[in-house]
Amino acid sequence: MMLRIARLHATEILDSRARPTLAVTLTTDSGLRVRAGVPSGESTGSREAAELRDGDPHRFAGQGVQQAVSHVNVQIAHALVGQRFASVADVDAALTELDGTADKSRLGANAVIGVSLAAARAQATLYGRELWQDIAALSGAPPLLPVPHFNVVDGGAHAANNLDFQEFMIAPLGAPSLPEAVRAGAEIYGRLKARLTAGRQVAGLGDEGGFAPAVDRPEDVLREMVAAITDAGYTPGRDGVAIALDPAASEFRGPDGRYRIAGEPLTSDELIDRYEEITHRFPVWSIEDGLGEDDWDGWARLTARLGERIQIVGDDLFVTSPAIIAEAVRKKVANSALIKVNQIGTVTETLEAVRVSREAGYTQMVSHRSGETEDSFIADLAVGAGCGQFKSGAPARGERVAKYNRLLEIADLDPGLPFGLTSG
Ligand code: PEP
Ligand code: MG
Repeated sequence: MMLRIARLHATEILDSRARPTLAVTLTTDSGLRVRAGVPSGESTGSREAAELRDGDPHRFAGQGVQQAVSHVNVQIAHALVGQRFASVADVDAALTELDGTADKSRLGANAVIGVSLAAARAQATLYGRELWQDIAALSGAPPLLPVPHFNVVDGGAHAANNLDFQEFMIAPLGAPSLPEAVRAGAEIYGRLKARLTAGRQVAGLGDEGGFAPAVDRPEDVLREMVAAITDAGYTPGRDGVAIALDPAASEFRGPDGRYRIAGEPLTSDELIDRYEEITHRFPVWSIEDGLGEDDWDGWARLTARLGERIQIVGDDLFVTSPAIIAEAVRKKVANSALIKVNQIGTVTETLEAVRVSREAGYTQMVSHRSGETEDSFIADLAVGAGCGQFKSGAPARGERVAKYNRLLEIADLDPGLPFGLTSG
């Protein structure tokens, strides 16, 4: 089967933060038409593939993406339309070559990933497969319904409160099935809302649909979360419902190298001590970006200290780059990789990042961005690449639940799919 592109068309649409992003429509010569929406981060890693923004202050405060749209409609369309591709890998190779830069900054990583996502979807449709089935064929991994990690409290760059840690997630590790995990996430979210409202701590929602309480100390949030898990009738802990953190520590590391938590400056080692204490007091099973992306020595110590007991996830540090993950493996940094398609810019390179992680024994968590569209591609990616873990924000707000609801649809369509952290 060959993928032949008859038409490529991008347009500027809105993401969940009221910022422009791209929707890319791809039509095949057989008349199939598919569409992809492009996500966008806020607390980005400095080595991510480069999003192209217009910088015109008269449109969307400089955030417009008309240049990236035009790159799809003119340069990329000119190069790809009429060509025959054996697979999305060939489309991605053509895109990377046409861009010609290491960070996809010429065409814009937002333009490139939009086309790549659309091409992967078109390929699945041509084969008459569900998207996750086609991704499973590309990845060679056993498909798996991942454990969802629901972000229920937002801070950091995603909320207007004083909480320094960015994400506090509910991880129903002990759930017997995906629908039961989703139920746990939603019920606990509801209980947490009731607690925060009663305590007059609710100050609205953050960008990912988590509550943004007027609380400073992460420990105070964790106490409320454990109480909400219990209120909802679940058991806090790895056999029941655990907690995962994404402090996104690059965002609160000052130029002096100190991490500021609720105003208190901490060295890397003091922050590692704080994490260790947190993991003893609360059922925290995973910490993502616990230290800053420039603090590789600190990361190595964090991994040596806590890596046997908990999952240590690299996000801003790894930016879904197969090369950086391979370097981290050599340096014994982290034991898990966050996987975000637009950090690296093509589906093929994303699957390569998953493969490098898996081969090194690093777990993988597929992730949304804080700026999202209703596109649910990443749900199929997580299942098809057999990643075992998934985060798409709160169990609320359309752009977040689009992904969880797609996982539920996949589970319903294919009741034989295993669910959990691993397929074994
Ligand atoms: C994250 O840091 O994991 C995240 C999803 O945020 P953003 O998309 O803003 O990088
Ligand atoms: Mg992160």
